[in-house]
Amino acid sequence: MNHPDSTDSAAARLRQLNQYFREHPVTGPLEGHSPQAAAPAPLSLATLDHVTASINEVIKHTRSANPSAGRAPTRADAIYDWARQHTEHAPEAVQQRTAAIEYRQYLEHAIRAGDWRKVIRPQRCPECRTFGLMWQADTQRALCTNTRCVDRDGFSTTVTLARLAHQHVTAQKKLRQSRAT
Ligand SMILES: [Zn+2]
Repeated sequence: MNHPDSTDSAAARLRQLNQYFREHPVTGPLEGHSPQAAAPAPLSLATLDHVTASINEVIKHTRSANPSAGRAPTRADAIYDWARQHTEHAPEAVQQRTAAIEYRQYLEHAIRAGDWRKVIRPQRCPECRTFGLMWQADTQRALCTNTRCVDRDGFSTTVTLARLAHQHVTAQKKLRQSRAT
């Protein structure tokens, strides 16, 4: 039996956000101001900005790793397959970076969709290795709720999504290596 979350991925999440944007379209021009334009829907615009920024980050990384990558796919959610395909012969560090960007964006897309519990709770804190991270929207970081996990000044550990993504990708790599030997 397939795990119900086996289809949960950066691509699936991006597809959902894109879908959301299409179902809640912004009327009027996307850039600049026009007196005729109806009041924009802030959530939709923010979601569109998020989708665009995510795609641009993947394209920029892929092209700098492989200048002959060519045109990016027009379907937003095909961007991750495209990035992986065009960096598969790149040095290991570049492939790791591709994977880390994809995983961080998966976390970002899920958080934007209001699903932080689903994606942040299963992560261990990189400092104390326990579970109990909570998402803090104001700092855009995950906060460790282990009361003993504090810095020298007594402040709770906070973790960026980039660090969680790096931790995830490194663990996946170790897992692959242990299976290969
Ligand atoms: Zn901790």
